[in-house]
Amino acid sequence: MIPYGRQDISEADIQAVVDVLRSDFLTQGPFAPAFEKSIAQYCGAGHAVAVNSATSALHIACLALGVGENDIVWTSPITFVASANCALYCGAKIDFVDIDPRTCNISVERLAEKLEQANHAGKLPKVVIPIHMCGHPCDMAGIYALSQRYGFKIIEDASHAIGGKYRNEPIGSCRYSSITVFSFHPVKIVTTGEGGMALTNDAHLARLMQLLRSHGITREAGEMTHAPDGPWYYQQIELGFNYRMTDLQAALGLSQMRRLDEFVAKRHAVAKRYDDLLAKLPLTTPRQNPDSYSGSHLYVIRLRIDQIRKTHRKVFESLREAAIGVNLHYIPVYRQPFYEKLGFKTGYCPEAERYYGEAMSLPIYPALTEAQQDQVAHALDKALTGNGK
Ligand SMILES: *Cc1c(COP(=O)(O)O)cnc(C)c1O
Repeated sequence: MIPYGRQDISEADIQAVVDVLRSDFLTQGPFAPAFEKSIAQYCGAGHAVAVNSATSALHIACLALGVGENDIVWTSPITFVASANCALYCGAKIDFVDIDPRTCNISVERLAEKLEQANHAGKLPKVVIPIHMCGHPCDMAGIYALSQRYGFKIIEDASHAIGGKYRNEPIGSCRYSSITVFSFHPVKIVTTGEGGMALTNDAHLARLMQLLRSHGITREAGEMTHAPDGPWYYQQIELGFNYRMTDLQAALGLSQMRRLDEFVAKRHAVAKRYDDLLAKLPLTTPRQNPDSYSGSHLYVIRLRIDQIRKTHRKVFESLREAAIGVNLHYIPVYRQPFYEKLGFKTGYCPEAERYYGEAMSLPIYPALTEAQQDQVAHALDKALTGNGK
């Protein structure tokens, strides 16, 4: 099976992890801070807080922004469930804004309409979480302008987008957001096995997230309610978690960062080649805004269901039978049984549901060969048009 995504691990990456295994610190050593520094510098952000997953990063990002009971968070329905769950962890309410069918990102027009209505109803969101779907940057300037007008904060879920750029600035610069979150799961662009990071330009938010990642415990005398009892002393001043990234993970991440630009360039080459190979098939290839450079995490095509005689599911099954590990990113979050129990109904976001009926993620990762890509294109041609030369 050709998977839809796969990590790329070099001998240098392996050696970096082995070196940590032989060192004094497996966790809370020098590598997590070094990895944070490397990403903050790459992205041009003031602060970076490494954690054990993007899910944890989204959770502490919401908490740092004060999300709690009686608050409302909005996100896109076409994302991994974690982008919505983080609001529920904080006891807040979640709601969804439909996607722009051209980009599959949150629709800024729908967002503007929904904000207008929410404003009249006195139910504005505290935080909006746009997702750079497939690595393709959202219209951040548009979302930022709305945040200024309606007073909400922005968390960018950039789990797909490290290495990408928006208006010539790296994703993660936080120019248009309070916090940006990355994931380092093995299918993502750079990996630490499991891992995530939260970036911000706000020193106060960064410090709060550092505390929340490690039990809410401080060893800084200046943050304590009274002078330390002695050299052993620490104080718990927030209700935090153990969301720390180990040094084994951070060393892998730091080593992977050296190849980030190369990884993204290879992904772009794969995407460009698919664009050409699939140009004549009854499907829509992904669209790239000219003001941005995608992280190219996913290559999602949309089948032109009206032009083919097979169902979406049948095409999907044919490809899986041909050992092509196609996938579907994502099931609209509110269609999950857990969210249906919260009261969300089928049909809530029509563009997201149309997308769900047509979308298919093709294999894309740095080591995907041209021969494998040809195999994917051939299997797709056969499934869609019956041309199986
Ligand atoms: C992968 C992913 C996450 C969760 O990342 P983890 O590091 O696995 O917790 C969140 N949001 C999006 C959009 C993702 O793709």
